[in-house]
Amino acid sequence: LVHAVNVHKSFGSVEVLKGIDVDVHAGEVVCLLGPSGSGKTTFLRCINQLETIQGGRIWIDGELAGYREKNTKGGRRLYRLKNKEIAAQRREIGMVFQRFNLFPHMTALENVMEGPVKVQRRPKGQMREEAMGLLETVGLGDKSSAYPGQLSGGQQQRVAIARALAMQPKLMLFDEPTSALDPELVGEVLQVMRDLAAQGTTMIVVTHEMAFARDVADRVVFMDGGVVVEQGDPAEVINSPSHKRTQAFLSRLR
Ligand code: ATP
Repeated sequence: LVHAVNVHKSFGSVEVLKGIDVDVHAGEVVCLLGPSGSGKTTFLRCINQLETIQGGRIWIDGELAGYREKNTKGGRRLYRLKNKEIAAQRREIGMVFQRFNLFPHMTALENVMEGPVKVQRRPKGQMREEAMGLLETVGLGDKSSAYPGQLSGGQQQRVAIARALAMQPKLMLFDEPTSALDPELVGEVLQVMRDLAAQGTTMIVVTHEMAFARDVADRVVFMDGGVVVEQGDPAEVINSPSHKRTQAFLSRLR
């Protein structure tokens, strides 16, 4: 579903991604691990076209992200897609951030309905039912009329997950979704993510939660300094990493 090849990203003269290759198959859960500053968030943002890349290509479900490839006399050339076309591609991808980013003046239910109704023009009545169902899925059926300010961080993050799912994305990206939460609220958010994984949702998760990565991921990808240092079976990489940099990172966490 995701085929990223030789992805390069710089901010000014600083190269943050130095040729990333990652593949994610439909239904797979892949956890991105690595020290702060290794480029994990930037890579997620590139997949979602929140950043433009300077080199390499990313295909999502067979479609080249951001560009159209055309045969010309001089060979194959890339043409940048129109903003509208990029927006359509981005709608296929749900993203959950560290901070919950809910609309503060809208109830939980309105937050979940907003995208489908405003962007996808789906009928309000039908969407209301569906949004209620999603809130129930994340364990918040009784909080539909609460405003974000009335909810705990864990509850807000679960609303944010329901909101992303409401757009029926092909792929869900999670950027350290529990790192801004008080420790006692982390479990409830991870449980929702475990449920999604069990239902076959394709997910890429940046996380420092090693137990989650070990139990839930089909594969972990360890990044450091803008490159993929190693990847593979979660238990193997986490319990017996083959690379020195992975060993150093994991031993700091223990
Ligand atoms: P963390 O776990 O701290 O979020 P990360 O692995 O996700 O780390 P990134 O957030 O992707 O790392 O950042 C990688 C590098 O890119 C960092 O050195 C960061 O300072 C730099 N960087 C990220 N975004 C920008 C930006 N918009 N402009 C300039 N530099 C940036």
